[in-house]
Amino acid sequence: MNIALIAHDKKKDEMVKLISSYQDILKEHVLYATGTTGQRIVDATGLDVHRFKSGPLGGDQQIGAYISDDKIDMVIFLRDPLTAQPHEPDITALLRLSDVYEIPLATNMGTGEILLRGLGEGLVDWRKIHHHAGREILNTDV
Ligand code: PGA
Repeated sequence: MNIALIAHDKKKDEMVKLISSYQDILKEHVLYATGTTGQRIVDATGLDVHRFKSGPLGGDQQIGAYISDDKIDMVIFLRDPLTAQPHEPDITALLRLSDVYEIPLATNMGTGEILLRGLGEGLVDWRKIHHHAGREILNTDV
């Protein structure tokens, strides 16, 4: 599975704690993150993380583009609901696209933990069937 990880500045410590706690599960998956969040995760865990640009410089939009290309299977986006963000429109767009494509999305630590446990239990494996079905549809189209 391809997992996207994003945390606003005041939530980055929480993200590091969350990912450190579940790194045994996450090492089996492909991780993507916005720039600074990804660097914090790499520094803390040594996990392999594909880093996009920093959120305010377009990283949320890059992840959004991956979602619309069906390349992301889960999003954990630890938002700071108490601080205004200069790139609020990009954040809204990313959340919207997650809903458009029905991608499991957590916006806080509580739900993030449930999603990661679910990932470990195979509860997100329906995404593999979805990918497979998508390829079959594509194949019959040619
Ligand atoms: P960052 O971006 O990981 O580069 O800080 C996250 C964000 O603020 O959207």
